[in-house]
Amino acid sequence: MLVRGESVIASTGLALAAIFTLAIAGAAGWTVYAEREAARRNLERDLGACARILAASAEPHLASATGAVDLRTLLVRAAAEHRLTQCRVVLANGTVIAEGNDAAAGSAESGATVLTASAPVTVPGQGAGEVQVAGALKHSFWVGLEAQTGIGVIGAAAFTAFLITYRRLRARLRAVGAIREALMAAARGEASAAVLSVNEQFGPEAAAWNALLAERERLRQEATTERAREALGNRADVRSDLAHACDALWQGMMLLDEKLTIKYANGAAAVFLRAEREKLAGTAIGDHIADADLLAAIQGVASGQVRRRSTIEVRRSDADAVGVLRFSVRPVRRNDAAAALVMIEDVTQQRVADEARNAFVAQATHELRTPLTNIRLYVEQAIEAGDEDPTVRAKALDVINQESRRLERIVGDMLSVSEIEAGSFKLRAGDVRLENLFDDLKAEYEAQAREKNITLTLRLPPKLPVIKGDRDKIVLALHNLLGNAVKYTPEGGSVEVRVSTDNDRLNVEVADTGIGINPDETELIFEKFYRAKDKRVNQITGTGLGLALAREVVRLHGGDITVQSQPDKGSTFTMTLPMLAEAA
Ligand code: ADP
Repeated sequence: MLVRGESVIASTGLALAAIFTLAIAGAAGWTVYAEREAARRNLERDLGACARILAASAEPHLASATGAVDLRTLLVRAAAEHRLTQCRVVLANGTVIAEGNDAAAGSAESGATVLTASAPVTVPGQGAGEVQVAGALKHSFWVGLEAQTGIGVIGAAAFTAFLITYRRLRARLRAVGAIREALMAAARGEASAAVLSVNEQFGPEAAAWNALLAERERLRQEATTERAREALGNRADVRSDLAHACDALWQGMMLLDEKLTIKYANGAAAVFLRAEREKLAGTAIGDHIADADLLAAIQGVASGQVRRRSTIEVRRSDADAVGVLRFSVRPVRRNDAAAALVMIEDVTQQRVADEARNAFVAQATHELRTPLTNIRLYVEQAIEAGDEDPTVRAKALDVINQESRRLERIVGDMLSVSEIEAGSFKLRAGDVRLENLFDDLKAEYEAQAREKNITLTLRLPPKLPVIKGDRDKIVLALHNLLGNAVKYTPEGGSVEVRVSTDNDRLNVEVADTGIGINPDETELIFEKFYRAKDKRVNQITGTGLGLALAREVVRLHGGDITVQSQPDKGSTFTMTLPMLAEAA
């Protein structure tokens, strides 16, 4: 069998050999033909000359009476000498006068070509005649043998030289042929190295070709690897970006398959479920959630039976915290299988805010209703008493007055809180003269204190400064502090308002011997709507807005309100205000 490249070499060699052989055969044939033509022309010329000479020589013999013998001798000699197959004198009527043919000389070889020539003679007394001669063309195949042999020898020598050269070139040509076939295969779209490589035994060209192929293959693989690396890098980037984005969510996020196995969980989910994030994936959701309703909802969605989103709130109270988690379970498709996406939110704050707001609405209604009821009752009493009992009427009017002011303050507090929430709460800066301010404040609460048998004391420094700020708002804050002190101090207690100045600050302490505040709640009471959990607080009307508002007002003036308290012993609220500072 021919190896790659040999078929080209073989066919090229055979074609060259065939062309060479044909060329030699053609040359030999042409030589024989040319020689034969030359011989023919020579014979024709010789025969013509011979006939003319014989005609000139024969005429004297024809003229003499005894010339017949001499004529024949002449003809015989000429026939023998020139190897003529025919040599005679013939009359116009065809009568042969003399014939010089001799059997040996005249016998033409069978198959040989015979040529003739003639020359006119005059036969005295018998008219015109002619000398006719004929000769055989002796050129045959063997006549050209010499030339053909020469050509053959030259051809054989050339062929041998060609073979030697061919053998020498063959190794090189095999490589070239093989590379050519490989190139043709590549042009047809063949790409595998196994098909395109050539036998390295064909020489350095073959080795160089194979090295080129190997290099191409290496570059191709490098490019493929690079592309794959890039693609993987992109995917990894996208994945890690997504993972980071999911981890940045404050909501917990989990992806569960239809068997309720956690496939992905972000950091927040791990925190909500109190699990280690790394250990969440691959575990069953049942290991982390106990609520039966929630598990049933997740199961329904993950199995593909339930297609709508469901939201379930789970209240939890464990050692670490008390709170409410909201689980939103929605269906997603994961690799063509059903899966569930569970989002977890801590709605404890929302629930607390909701509860506080609801309590506020209830309290506010109650707060508003109490003074209104009192006002209505005392108006009726005043009407009934008429002009007859001026004392009753005066007392009724006094209560109506107090309750209207209380009503006004409650509504004012509510309005101020909503202004603060809306960002439209404004202070009107001006000089605040404190001289009568505290006396008026005391006067407002004296009746209430007296009712509860509470000793209300006011301690003022010899000289009160003038401060910068919004008088109404400062009065509102002081009202809230003193009002609370009287409100949360049981019968027989005492309330003291101490005013002092140090450097550039005004300090107002409102101290009471009331119910006090639990240490856990001393900051919470400054939150809007917050009321202490103490049962006694529940029995006293209030909105949970007063302290929040008072602290906001004082802070807007550049000061603060703090509290020191002991449950059942009493509380001291301290308000500090910068004296000459411009209100914010
Ligand atoms: P409220 O309308 O409930 O009085 P505040 O904002 O004025 O609202 O007060 C918030 C809470 O702080 C009160 O509900 C009460 O529990 C507590 N508190 C305020 N002042 C006193 C005080 N002088 N003594 C005891 N508890 C107080």
